[in-house]
Amino acid sequence: MERNKPKEEPMEILAEDPPPVVERPKPRRTKGHYRLTDFIIQRTLGTGSFGRVHLVRSKHNLLFYAIKVLNKERVVKMKQIEHTNNEMQVLEQVQHPFIINLWGTFQDAANLYMVMDFVPGGELFTLLRRSNRFPDPVAKFYAAEVALALNHLHSLDIIYRDLKPENILLSADGHIKVADFGFAKVCATTTWTLCGTPDYLAPEIVNQQRYNKSVDWYALGVLIFEMLSGLPPYHQAEPNHMILYERITRGPTYIRWPTQFDQKATDIIRKLMESDPSKRYGNMQHGAGDVFAHPWFREVDWAKLAGREITAPYLPRISGDGDASAFEKYPDDHAADMYGLPGPDLYGEAFPGFEYATTETV
Ligand code: AMP
Repeated sequence: MERNKPKEEPMEILAEDPPPVVERPKPRRTKGHYRLTDFIIQRTLGTGSFGRVHLVRSKHNLLFYAIKVLNKERVVKMKQIEHTNNEMQVLEQVQHPFIINLWGTFQDAANLYMVMDFVPGGELFTLLRRSNRFPDPVAKFYAAEVALALNHLHSLDIIYRDLKPENILLSADGHIKVADFGFAKVCATTTWTLCGTPDYLAPEIVNQQRYNKSVDWYALGVLIFEMLSGLPPYHQAEPNHMILYERITRGPTYIRWPTQFDQKATDIIRKLMESDPSKRYGNMQHGAGDVFAHPWFREVDWAKLAGREITAPYLPRISGDGDASAFEKYPDDHAADMYGLPGPDLYGEAFPGFEYATTETV
């Protein structure tokens, strides 16, 4: 169920309801000191360009976590040092109910490790492909939680730059957690790097202009379209980046709108996918306020939503802590046997924020 050409290629220039599972209240986060031997690796949850994410269990408190492992050599060879350091720096700063929680990081000779909460409900992408498309209120619920997460990031001068259903995970209680901060960046002004996922790129990125948080609001428009129709607006059965980028540049006037779309939904998508960033919803004088006040979101109680008080439209079927059945199964390739081995450390200095594992326990 993969999207055509997912983000594996970073483009630097160049219901039967299950019983409700209640989220455990989390203690305030303090930067922990971790090492690989604190955890038992259970299985792979997902793969990225430079490594993979594993479900692990702490030997100390027996809780489940997700550890993202990045191979330093691969990160360096693919010129992703800055992005990787950005990811860590951003996640260390951010704590929000709709954003993945990072507990700490460490490194050994070959790899970088990021210890996160395990989010058991799987990817919104999987739910969407299984459902074909979401009814309007369901799409609205997820879009509204995403809008709150984006607004929080932007208030910290962070651009996310990789919004898509694959990067939205579902908690046990069905609320979202935005994951994968591999392209996120603290940026108070503008930046220019060409990165993201082709279908979700704003015209200013495609045209190699300087850009800012406007690109995340554009991507929210694409996400709403994809949730309501099942596919992104410029989807092609045979992906061709040149044609895609031409369509993105021509703008939403040329989108073929599915007939089932609510007129207010079409309107908010148009306003978010506006080609001129200075006229784009989310990026004008009232910032996210314009998005929150749009008629499509009229029935949303933003305060209750932010407090996770609105019941989610779909409850993942989770049989207990550590149930990862919502994630695709990966063949056991013994990747974990290669972690923590002694060897030459050629790239450690490139990742100063990742501590070296200590001998003390968590
Ligand atoms: P990433 O490289 O961060 O995109 O992660 C790759 C995949 O691993 C994601 O698409 C998810 O399916 C899975 N994943 C990442 N982080 C977590 C997490 N904290 N809990 C559960 N699954 C995760």
